[in-house]
Amino acid sequence: MKNLPFTREQLEAIAARWPTPFHIYDEAAIVANARRLKAAFSWNKGFHEYFAVKAAPNPHLMTLLRKEGFGSDCSSMAELVLAEAVGNVGEDVMFTSNDTPAAEFQKAAAIGAIINLDDITHLDFLEQALDGHLPDRLCCRWNPGPLKGGNAIIGKPEEAKYGFTKPQLFEAYRRMKEKGVKRFGLHTMVASNELDPQYIIDTATLLFDLVVEISRDVGITFEFINIGGGIGIPYRPDQQAMDLERVGKGIEAAYQTHLLAQGHPDLRLYTECGRCITGPYGYLVSRVLHIKDTYRKYAGLDACMANLMRPALYGAYHHITVPGAAPDAPRAVYDVTGSLCENNDKFAIQRELPVLHPGDLVVIHDAGAHGHAMGFQYNGKLRSAELLLKPDGSVVQIRRAETLADYFATLDFPGLPK
Ligand SMILES: *Cc1c(COP(=O)(O)O)cnc(C)c1O
Repeated sequence: MKNLPFTREQLEAIAARWPTPFHIYDEAAIVANARRLKAAFSWNKGFHEYFAVKAAPNPHLMTLLRKEGFGSDCSSMAELVLAEAVGNVGEDVMFTSNDTPAAEFQKAAAIGAIINLDDITHLDFLEQALDGHLPDRLCCRWNPGPLKGGNAIIGKPEEAKYGFTKPQLFEAYRRMKEKGVKRFGLHTMVASNELDPQYIIDTATLLFDLVVEISRDVGITFEFINIGGGIGIPYRPDQQAMDLERVGKGIEAAYQTHLLAQGHPDLRLYTECGRCITGPYGYLVSRVLHIKDTYRKYAGLDACMANLMRPALYGAYHHITVPGAAPDAPRAVYDVTGSLCENNDKFAIQRELPVLHPGDLVVIHDAGAHGHAMGFQYNGKLRSAELLLKPDGSVVQIRRAETLADYFATLDFPGLPK
């Protein structure tokens, strides 16, 4: 069962002001969810969530999360600039990038971000980029390789481009120590959209074990571990949300036995979740443009994969509801499509829905992370507006829809709209 934070009448009123398609985020639900995450890890004094900016790179949402104490996890220049703009600098920024340009390392260092290295060669690259001055705190990203199974989005760790091997980690921390680095972190990110609490607990446990091993071998202590993002959300109505309390308790138990009992002092636990923070609380709202009956029934929407790419990209399931449809309304099976000239521009394939008519509003659920953010302009499609539903029921626009002038902005050619 998936609920909506608005009725059909309310949605029609919003759509009268902001034409479909648009993304709308539920502020009250995002805030309540952020507090749930913090509560689950409140046993750890230094717990800090760095919201993965790439999931929803909107400064209004980032500000909302900053008020809940969340920092920013950035992996590009634009994301660093966004973090700085909302006031996230220094310890409030984790820079977890890969294949990193020097200018991005320089920007990250300039705002005091915690730099998380993706490769052993980046140590020298960073030192050069910063004119020989390494930051006094550094983190490395571990790729556990065949130790961990992967999944469809992130692939198998040993086939993934990210992170250091274990022997490279020992060498890197040794060299960092020699170069005068004083504060150390260890990071991994091996899951994506994972719904099994044990998987996250096991990941943290592996990090505790490795922290103990490295600190003994190299003679350093760790200030934090970052277990990455990757906590999943129940896209399908029959799936269970991740039990965050269980994850918190499981990691706490491992912290006692695998870290403190092994003689390592307290350290801070960091996460850099994106999907599970905003994903379930964002909706793509669209209208049926055409109903087409050929070899199959097609419901053509005014949204397309430029607004939400996950179904086309990964075959991902997104639940679709028709607000206001009576529970006993007649139903039919549709391919729910967008207008891109690509046959994979389908939000759902052979999905049973209430019988649809042109003009009907449809809501595509769980579009609040890696939704609008993945938008693109192929085929001249424009990215939609983003709206925020406030706790008092009012709605504010937090990003306007793109115009043709935006689309043509980089072209210098007479006759095109400017
Ligand atoms: C994408 C990403 C995240 C966030 O992943 P979610 O699945 O949205 O939680 C966190 N860290 C890094 C390094 C990432 O690339």
